[in-house]
Amino acid sequence: MPEQKKRNNRSVANGTVSTKEAAITLNAVSVYFDTFKAIDNISIAFRKHSVTAIIGPSGCGKSTLLRTINRMNDMIPSCAVEGEVYFEGRNIYDPRVDPVEIRRRIGMVFQKPNPFPKSIYNNIKWPAQINGLEVNYDELVERCLQRTALWDEVKDKLHQNAFRLSGGQQQRLCIARSIAINPEIILMDEPASSLDPVSTAHIEELIDELKKNYTIIIVTHNMQQAGRISDKTAFLTVNSQQAGKIVEYSDTRKMFLNPQNKETEAYISGRFG
Ligand code: ADP
Ligand code: MG
Repeated sequence: MPEQKKRNNRSVANGTVSTKEAAITLNAVSVYFDTFKAIDNISIAFRKHSVTAIIGPSGCGKSTLLRTINRMNDMIPSCAVEGEVYFEGRNIYDPRVDPVEIRRRIGMVFQKPNPFPKSIYNNIKWPAQINGLEVNYDELVERCLQRTALWDEVKDKLHQNAFRLSGGQQQRLCIARSIAINPEIILMDEPASSLDPVSTAHIEELIDELKKNYTIIIVTHNMQQAGRISDKTAFLTVNSQQAGKIVEYSDTRKMFLNPQNKETEAYISGRFG
C-alpha cells in the first residue's frame, strides 16, 4: 500500500481517541478468508479503561474484527490479516511478537460460556499456573471470584465441577478466569446473548465495574445493552463486496441520539439487521 494512503488512514484511525488515550489502534486492517475479504481497511483506536461496543448486522465481521485484536485469527488456517494493530507501541503482527503473550494480555470471553472441564477453583488456578504466575492461589481464586461477584454463590463449592454452575455463573467464571492472568484488555463477543435477563444484568454490572481496571471491547447485537454499558460505539456494516467497514464511530450517547449516517440510523432504529 502506498505510504500516503497509510498516513491518511492513520488520521481516520484515531478519530476522537488520541494516541495517548488508546489501548489498541488498528491501522488499515483488512482480513481475508482465502480470497474472501471479510474486513475492509478498518482503522480505529479503542480508548483505555473504557467500554467500546461494536454493533452491526449479522455477518458484518464483528467477531472477525475482535479476533484480529488478540491474534485469535491465527488459529484459522485460511485467514490472513493485512495492516497493523498497535498495542503499547508495538505492532502485534510483527514477526518478533509472541502471539501467546498477546493472548495473555488481551483476553477473550466468548458468546457461549466455555469453562474448562475442571473445578471452579482450578478454572482460575490453572491458567495462572500455566502462565507462570507465582501467587497464592487461594487468594487469587477468592479475589477473582469476588471481582466477578461470584464468590458468595460458590465459596462453599469451589471444588465442584464448573459445568454444574448455571449458564450465567459459568460466564462470570469465564470472566473471572480471564482476569486471573492480569490482562490489560478484555474482548467480549456477545457475552450475554445466551443468558437470561437476570444473568445479563449481572454481566452488565460487572463490565461497568471492570472498566476501572481494564479496557473492554464488546460485540453486542443488543442495542439497549450497547446503550447501557458502552462509552463509545463503532457501527460496522458491509460494503457492496460484503466486506465489513466501520461507517460510524463516536460516543455512544451521541450515536444513539443523533446518528450521523443513514445506515447507522436505520440499524439502531431497528429497520435492518
Ligand atoms: P459477525 O460476528 O458480525 O456475525 P463474522 O465475523 O463471524 O461476523 O463473519 C464475517 C464474515 O466472514 C462472514 O461472511 C462469515 O461468513 C465470514 N467468516 C467468518 N469466519 C470464517 C471462517 N472461519 N472461514 C471463512 N469465512 C468466515
Ligand atoms: Mg459474531
